[in-house]
Amino acid sequence: MSTVQGRLRIAVQKSGRLADRSLDLVRDAGLRVVKGANDLLYKVENYPIDLLRVRDDDIPTFVADGVCDLGIVGENVLEEGKNGGANASVVMPLGFGKCTLKLACPPMLDYAGPASLQGLRIATSYPKILRRYLDEQGIGADIVVMRGAVEVAPRLKLASAICDLVSTGATLEANGLVAKETVFESQAVLIQSPVAPEPGLQHLLESIIERMAGVVSSQGAKYVMLNAPRSALDAITAILPGAGAPTVMPLMGRDDAVAVHAVCQEAVFWETLEKLKAAGASAILVLPIEKMM
Ligand code: ATP
Ligand code: MG
Repeated sequence: MSTVQGRLRIAVQKSGRLADRSLDLVRDAGLRVVKGANDLLYKVENYPIDLLRVRDDDIPTFVADGVCDLGIVGENVLEEGKNGGANASVVMPLGFGKCTLKLACPPMLDYAGPASLQGLRIATSYPKILRRYLDEQGIGADIVVMRGAVEVAPRLKLASAICDLVSTGATLEANGLVAKETVFESQAVLIQSPVAPEPGLQHLLESIIERMAGVVSSQGAKYVMLNAPRSALDAITAILPGAGAPTVMPLMGRDDAVAVHAVCQEAVFWETLEKLKAAGASAILVLPIEKMM
């Protein structure tokens, strides 16, 4: 495959757990995505950008080789796919697709820490990440590579333990397995090619990255407005979650009180509002933020 002259390419998962959120991120960054002539390629109609829709396993290689300039993929897939050659670099974590690669085993196995795995067979789709973990722990175990349905391996006597991705833990539980160790924490990341785009596209590439960073940092962020007695200003500022220096403004005809406006980077829960109120705040408003840069 050769890159199309004069266009950037972003690799996204075609279908699966990351597909919808990846497309949302691209759209929220202001790219108008339209279906292309085939399923593999979607076009962006307001910029010279194409989306290449592929299996997630292929994304790190496409980006590393410069077939795509950017890609959205799970850190677990990126890490497992690393080889000796030039690799794609992580631009930023994206805050979705969170999951954990865990070691799990049936309750029958007498488990007292990683050393209990010595000499056993462990089934996984992530042999490289697992081997690195076992080496770090000084454990010699056999790894059985399975492409899917890893959780059935102990029941089929293919392995004594498994190392698999977990988000809620429901699959493990349904298969009578108990999570024991965290091997790798993962989420979706934006990755960038070590191969620079054509000079004419460099600026566009940077602006897409900056917009995506804006989308990610505004996720969950809220704009909080409230009135506060001057005397309670320090206490109230301390309660606002993840706020930098707030804007403090006078209130007409009130010398003892001020208006406080702040961008809160973390979730603002009802508990937070109750604490603010208890500290003396009134007329509290929490507003969503659409864009941030
Ligand atoms: P593809 O057809 O693209 O190869 P896949 O079946 O390999 O898809 P998905 O199951 O769609 O992959 O998962 C994609 C990514 O979603 C995973 O690599 C991981 O980063 C993330 N993820 C989040 N939660 C989970 C979970 N509970 N189980 C598996 N993956 C998860
Ligand atoms: Mg895959």
